Amino acid sequence: VRARVMQVEHSPDVTYEDIGGLEEQMNEVRETVEMPLDRPEMFSEVGIDPPSGVLLYGPPGTGKTMLAKAVANQTDATFIKMAGSELVHKFIGEGAKLVRDLFEVARENEPAVLFIDEIDAIASKRTDSKTSGDAEVQRTMMQLLSEMDGFADRGEVRIIAATNRFDMLDPAILRPGRFDRLIEVPKPNDEGREIIFQIHTRNMNVSDDVDFAELAEMAENASGADIKAVCTEAGMFAIRDDRTEIFMQDFVDAWEKIQAEETDTDAEAS
Ligand code: ATP
Repeated sequence: VRARVMQVEHSPDVTYEDIGGLEEQMNEVRETVEMPLDRPEMFSEVGIDPPSGVLLYGPPGTGKTMLAKAVANQTDATFIKMAGSELVHKFIGEGAKLVRDLFEVARENEPAVLFIDEIDAIASKRTDSKTSGDAEVQRTMMQLLSEMDGFADRGEVRIIAATNRFDMLDPAILRPGRFDRLIEVPKPNDEGREIIFQIHTRNMNVSDDVDFAELAEMAENASGADIKAVCTEAGMFAIRDDRTEIFMQDFVDAWEKIQAEETDTDAEAS
């Protein structure tokens, strides 16, 4: 069961250089997650406990998973990922056990970065309905809290959680000693988008006519994940045209195509 829901990767290949427009967030993650893994003696000598858990929140596709992976890369740690939704929906009745397993695997693989994506799936504000599904979610969350509380001897395991639904979270998980460091990971601004375009075209054969500042302006409101999709699609336009060089127009076409697709799926969803 474990193997099917947990993603375990030793020192994942994402680095801080692969992340654009999140300088401040990167610095905070380094201080709260990387420092305690790299130099635990600093904290014991100063006499303070490092933050237990860090919560990253913000819209989808903005680099939350990347940040967690980059810390694991930098500290040569094992990256262990599980999604909150999988904890409760994949194997009914197994949620609490999976949480125990998760922490056990982390301890066995120290130093480790434990990344719990979609934490809102197990830690949303209590609902009034008393369906069995809710009870299961409650048990899973209680197990997570108790693992975190009983984690004084957590050794070299750091916990990062992520959510797109900060407003839904149960305040219990934000209490001191739990996820008490909150880091907002927003969509990139103009400058961030320009950097992210540059990052994702690093290995692409782009023509000199490509203007990254203009691309950033064009792709207003795009997330990092959207920008990556635009770059790949621009490459596809070149290939369809039997070219190996990618021009500005390919990026413009790609952006239009991706926006049209998003409008389609929005329409389907509503
Ligand atoms: P979700 O909430 O949907 O899990 P996330 O915030 O964890 O999303 P990531 O999985 O980190 O997002 O990002 C998805 C992909 O989008 C990355 O693999 C990367 O290619 C691209 N990406 C997102 N944000 C950035 C960024 N700030 N810089 C560079 N690439 C980015």
